Amino acid sequence: MIPDWSVERRRMVERQLRRRGIRDERVLHAMGSIAREEFVPLEWRVLAYQDGPVGIGWGQTISQPYMTALMAQELALTGTETVLEVGAGCGYAAALLGALAAQVVTVEIVPELAEAARANLRRTGLGRNVAVVAGDGSLGYEPAAPYDAISVAAAAPDVPVTLLEQLGDRGRAVIPVGTREDQELRVIRRRAGRIEYRVTVQCRFVPLRGGGGWS
Ligand code: SAH
Repeated sequence: MIPDWSVERRRMVERQLRRRGIRDERVLHAMGSIAREEFVPLEWRVLAYQDGPVGIGWGQTISQPYMTALMAQELALTGTETVLEVGAGCGYAAALLGALAAQVVTVEIVPELAEAARANLRRTGLGRNVAVVAGDGSLGYEPAAPYDAISVAAAAPDVPVTLLEQLGDRGRAVIPVGTREDQELRVIRRRAGRIEYRVTVQCRFVPLRGGGGWS
């Protein structure tokens, strides 16, 4: 039997997001509207709204809905921003960021996933302001810098300095930092050239590969 996706979506927003403290109404509304199942490969689609990450192939995952919501909320987007995402995966978070900001560039290191993200965004009509770039995003993406917000969807041993250099003044970034098994989600803010950061939750993301992560 095919699940009623709109029911699953509403339940996810209430139980996984609102009840756990996601307050940004734009984030809640967007996650209540975007068809998450369209971003999960067919064989795992029944798991699309589960309270955890789901496999998307190539050893990668679509992040837990709560994590995606929290990261988007911490970026405090209003609709005018240019956002960089590192680690498109299947493109779900990029679709969300696209609904919350003006422009999104998302970089994905696995070429097949970059292609899948592009196809998912095109099919759902959510890719109009999202550019998917295949390549190593651990050192950012210079051509569209500076960014008002940067979201890193894979864990690094430390915050790559090059990423910070691409963050504009008053910009915000979210990135999981720690060991391969255990990280904390850091929220970074640039203010008058200074970098401030605070820690939100413990988390576990797939490792960031390439020059700014674990090679
Ligand atoms: N944003 C996704 C989560 C994807 S998981 C979502 O919507 O839920 C993290 C992704 O980061 C994986 O697809 C992985 O291939 C990718 N990745 C890892 N290192 C990378 C790098 N250096 N540059 C770009 N993408 C990277």
